[in-house]
Amino acid sequence: MGSPFQSALEALLAPLEFAARDDFAALSRVRGLEANVREAAARAGVLAIPPDARERLARVAARFAAELPREALRSEVERGLSELRPLASPAFAEAALARSPAALAGVGPKRAEQLARRGLRRVADLLLWLPARYDDRRALVKLGELEVGRRATFVGRVVAADFASRPLRGRGRRGRVFQAVVGDESGSANLKWFRGGESVARTLRKGALLLVTGDVRRYRFSKEIVHPEIEVLAGEGARADPDPERRCIVPDYPVLEGFPPRSLREIVIRAVAEYADLVEGFLPPALVRERGLPEPAPALRHLHGPARDADLEALRERRDPAHQRLVLEELYLLEVGLALRHAARAREEGLAIASGPRAAAAERQLPFRLTGAQRRAWHEIRRDLARPHPMNRLLEGDVGSGKTVVAYLAAVAVAEAGHQTALMAPTELLAEQHARTLARLAAAEAEPARLRLALLTASVPRGEALEARRALAAGEIDLVVGTHALVQEGVAFRSLALVATDEQHRFGVRQRAALAEKAAKGWLPHALVMTATPIPRTLALTLYGDLDLSVIDELPPGREPVQTLLLRPGEGKRVAELLREAADRGEQAYVVYPVLEESEGSDLRAAQESAERIRRAFPELAVDLVHGRLDARARAAAMGRFERGETQVLVATTVVEVGVDVPSATLMVVEHAERFGLAQLHQLRGRAGRGERRGTCVLVARASTPESEARLQALLETSDGFAIAEADLRLRGPGEFLGTRQHGRLPDLRLADLARDARHVSAAREAARETLRRDPDLRRSPDLARAVRAHWGERLALVDVG
Ligand code: ADP
Ligand code: MG
Repeated sequence: MGSPFQSALEALLAPLEFAARDDFAALSRVRGLEANVREAAARAGVLAIPPDARERLARVAARFAAELPREALRSEVERGLSELRPLASPAFAEAALARSPAALAGVGPKRAEQLARRGLRRVADLLLWLPARYDDRRALVKLGELEVGRRATFVGRVVAADFASRPLRGRGRRGRVFQAVVGDESGSANLKWFRGGESVARTLRKGALLLVTGDVRRYRFSKEIVHPEIEVLAGEGARADPDPERRCIVPDYPVLEGFPPRSLREIVIRAVAEYADLVEGFLPPALVRERGLPEPAPALRHLHGPARDADLEALRERRDPAHQRLVLEELYLLEVGLALRHAARAREEGLAIASGPRAAAAERQLPFRLTGAQRRAWHEIRRDLARPHPMNRLLEGDVGSGKTVVAYLAAVAVAEAGHQTALMAPTELLAEQHARTLARLAAAEAEPARLRLALLTASVPRGEALEARRALAAGEIDLVVGTHALVQEGVAFRSLALVATDEQHRFGVRQRAALAEKAAKGWLPHALVMTATPIPRTLALTLYGDLDLSVIDELPPGREPVQTLLLRPGEGKRVAELLREAADRGEQAYVVYPVLEESEGSDLRAAQESAERIRRAFPELAVDLVHGRLDARARAAAMGRFERGETQVLVATTVVEVGVDVPSATLMVVEHAERFGLAQLHQLRGRAGRGERRGTCVLVARASTPESEARLQALLETSDGFAIAEADLRLRGPGEFLGTRQHGRLPDLRLADLARDARHVSAAREAARETLRRDPDLRRSPDLARAVRAHWGERLALVDVG
């Protein structure tokens, strides 16, 4: 492996190293050393490498230009080696690729600064900055054939060119617009520059023959192109070769302020011409062969300068093998980084907890049989607990899939071994709910072993809380349920061995340290993270790559899927009927309004009006309103009233508290459903199907876009959270899908798109795991280890702080 430059240098160094071996013992026996060196240097010299490296090669080659006398040979070999060895070190390529674009001819400090502002700080960034589009200049159209709304390339002669002034709207001064009319025998078009006209005017004269590319628009009775890309083919200022054979597929980069498209392209092309062969590929050769992928250097050349006969569609759709190679390369480095961290975690010392007969009995004594998926998850957790290393496992499963039950069994196993478990929820309300669920499960255990439970939240009366803390410190409590305050405050455990958290809260470095202090003997406790947000597997593996994943993808038997209705404006009567029917059956309903931050006031008003309307229409029902401007206590109080059945309708502008479980709430009305994300809608819908009775979810769409229709349709079609999550990821992309809170955890991928390239993620992950299986610390692949650190070292550390 290694870069093309490294391989070429090795070929060049080999004869020199051979001659120098054993203190030049073999020098007298080498034949044709000069010619070997010259040829190898010439082969390395034609590669895409920086000018300084090329000069050095030329210098060495020049000294071997002729047959050297014996006496001179030895010192020339020594000089050659000392000049070339540093180039062969991976540090050279790394440093060269990290140079500022200012190292390129044509890029001065000002342009380098502009590039840096767009994140293009290093030459390597330019190499990986792929074209946004490709212009097909192989086919030139006639001016008479220009189609409005399409991008086109044509050749035309400048008929007229001049500045025209026009009032710049609202600014009270006149801007100068540069205009040109170009024509051929079939028609004409206008070209316009609102900015940068002065520099265009200098190169564009009447009579010049132009090659023009741009988006064609209609302007009054003619066609025009604003800010076209032009090349002067003939006439004054001609730069390019007018030979039509040279017309080809031209990469078009994302627009950068201050850069005409062509000069940007020239900069990138220069970067490719001077640095591409320094780029090394790390993918395992077997994977490369199996998929028929090019090496990174030719891949870069192809993407930045496709040949005339390239597959344009594949380039445009980013499914070209060259693109795939770079995507896989990027994902592979990421996955190796994640796998390294996973391995480091797996080496940490922890407490081995073998689950015994009591845990097995607790499973048998449950009031139901575990589903297959629950059994699988429980088995995975039990196996992790039994190892002398801390567990780091993500337990993913739809709302109501039975995660809490699995956590309960783990807590029993931990208690059986004489240690303690903490379960943390994001809100007090949820903590209380968990405590109730767990108490019910614990009641099924045969006396006298029964799990000893405590609840610790800010609302627990002071006396009770003090007693709970004492009992916890004395080891008289097996499982404590609370909010995250549990770790922060001075709560002491006798022997904490398992920390389970509900909803994606992960521990940063500091919390981990705090936990270790509380844990038995200062070891890190086992960690189980439960989440009800279905995250597609590829994304979960990338986001939580250092966690092991258990998925509960099966609901307990007998659950009826929530009935989903889609209503349009004007069907409000149907909502009223459904509310009436639910109330008549003694059931409860949620009515949810979206909140858009910038217009929270008006959304709040809409919710208030809705609550009023419902109160007027159903005077016998108790209606409550919760919204983002209520403080946490008032919100929790309202949620509590709803939970106890004191209110029948809950109107909310905030998304109803995550995971709240109110079995008699069977109706969920989502207003402006088009404004919610798919995963969010699915979560809301899940709230309405918690009990014995079948739930109904009414989606009221007040507006419609193709995307919102696709989301709502997906929701009508399936109730499988994972299928919905996959659809959501496809529709919105990973950034939107995860929302801002989690987006920061998403590694900053330049080329790969976790939605589009999902299948590459698993391939990269498998390859990474395989690499580490053969070479656990990458001791035999120092270059790979450096590359991973260079790419992801910092990011992965950040991810860890969560
Ligand atoms: P989650 O935490 O995933 O939302 P829970 O563990 O709270 O789900 O379970 C939801 C409800 O389903 C609870 O009332 C629980 O008792 C019940 N349940 C869990 N597992 C099963 C099962 N295998 N069979 C029947 N009911 C179950
Ligand atoms: Mg739960």
